[in-house]
Amino acid sequence: MNDNIDNVINEEWSEDAKQKNVYGVLYIVSTPIGNLEDITLRALNTLKAVDLIAAEDTRHTIKLLNYFEIRTPLISYHEHNKHHKGKELINELKNGKSIALVSDAGTPAISDPGEDIVKLAVESNIAVTAVPGASAVLTALVLSGLNTYRFVFDGFLPVQSKERKKRIQEIKDEIRTIVIYEAPHKLKKTLHDLYEAMGDRSVSLARELTKRFEEVRRTTLAEAISYYNENQPKGEFVLVIEGKSVEELLEEKQLEWEGYSVVEHLNIYIQQGISKKDAMKRVAEDRGMNKRQVYSMVLEEEG
Ligand code: SAM
Repeated sequence: MNDNIDNVINEEWSEDAKQKNVYGVLYIVSTPIGNLEDITLRALNTLKAVDLIAAEDTRHTIKLLNYFEIRTPLISYHEHNKHHKGKELINELKNGKSIALVSDAGTPAISDPGEDIVKLAVESNIAVTAVPGASAVLTALVLSGLNTYRFVFDGFLPVQSKERKKRIQEIKDEIRTIVIYEAPHKLKKTLHDLYEAMGDRSVSLARELTKRFEEVRRTTLAEAISYYNENQPKGEFVLVIEGKSVEELLEEKQLEWEGYSVVEHLNIYIQQGISKKDAMKRVAEDRGMNKRQVYSMVLEEEG
């Protein structure tokens, strides 16, 4: 049966199913990132109860299912088959089947396939729910000893040099704590590129999280570079990098604006269509001054 016929038939079935309100539910199920005891009771019950489990790597997930004696049928859904498998999964859901999506480790859709199927399901009015659990981002963040109140997650840095440079430029001035993932064979290059762009910063390198030989190295970028020059990186890493300090950012901005007089600085904003009042406010912020100081400098400069 070709793809089109398949879709048409399923579309008809699904309209029927929709009327009866019997669409299945898509469950985004988190699995452990190392320690099998981190599976939740709800995850186990869901994996047992659904009609189908869609897994990033079926050989990997089968081990988890065997360990917990779960016999639910398993199908693969990964980066390279997600386009046609996504459609198949949506058809199954429209036909009333419930599906659990799992990845190799942790929370699906965070730097692994999942994002697309959730989008498709949402577009198709299929109910999506999450069964939360382990996540490498949060585990590494809370162990880092760095600020956790505000943070950004940037996934894996791009490999291609142009995109990589652009991404590093984007994060180098970030004041929130930055979390990224990295594979062992790329760690040294990443540390080096980050150091070059950001200078020395505190960094926490977490590996083997929740496993027997869990390691969290709280150090600086420069120290990490020399450590990994002597020691071969092993295992997958989560890097938690201190954000840029507000003082440093302000200092840099002030230096940037030093080439302009206060009036010139003010006019740059006004020419962008910003009101004089708001422009004053921005100039004051950029220069680390208060508005009254800016106002009197403008008066002075304008003589
Ligand atoms: N979706 C997963 C999550 O929420 O945890 C992450 C998937 S991503 C493909 C895999 C990356 O997660 C690894 O390269 C590593 O950076 C990180 N990771 C997963 N398990 C880890 C562990 N036990 N220790 C350290 N990092 C881990």
